[in-house]
Amino acid sequence: MTLNMADAAPFLDRLKRLYDEMDAAYRAAAEHYGFQCDGCTDNCCLTRFHHHTHLEYLYLREGFRAMPMDAQTEVRALADAVIRETAAAEKEGGEIRIMCPLNTGGRCRLYSRRPMICRLHGVAHELHLPGRPVSRGPGCALFMQQAEGAEYFRFDRTPFYREMAMLESGLKQAAGLSTKLKMTVAEMIVTFEEPAL
Ligand code: SF4
Repeated sequence: MTLNMADAAPFLDRLKRLYDEMDAAYRAAAEHYGFQCDGCTDNCCLTRFHHHTHLEYLYLREGFRAMPMDAQTEVRALADAVIRETAAAEKEGGEIRIMCPLNTGGRCRLYSRRPMICRLHGVAHELHLPGRPVSRGPGCALFMQQAEGAEYFRFDRTPFYREMAMLESGLKQAAGLSTKLKMTVAEMIVTFEEPAL
């Protein structure tokens, strides 16, 4: 699959604005609850999140390619290790909790480029999908502890998911892409050296 980055540029610009909107909405909800995502042993960067858009893939890849070469090499080696450890853990059949290769010393090396779920995870949310009952997520364990007894704040992920789906669809149409994507950050990173997506 080849992709002309000029086709992707306007979609990546809009993605950046969408991320800003998500961050602002998340901040408002976190402030309401007095939630501090800090000092947590159950780090969400240990969660095996899958990401589903070419758009987020490209945005993360741009950030990765702008890193110094030694950092790229280091992260690439970590990503290889994560993939190996994940395969071994899958064989064992236990829970998979392996640190994301972009997390160093508790910090995301591409924080401004992190995917949507990394931005939205943690705070209690709701999701309104057509023809389905409203789905509600309680937030992470630390959130539930800190927000106990607080008045409910409506943190609705629906507009963000909707806009993301529209942007992804627009990008695929503009670039003539028909493939689906389902990748972890580690799986993305090991393909970032390939010349074309
Ligand atoms: S991309 Fe960044 S925020 Fe997301 S899981 Fe990896 S280290 Fe954590």
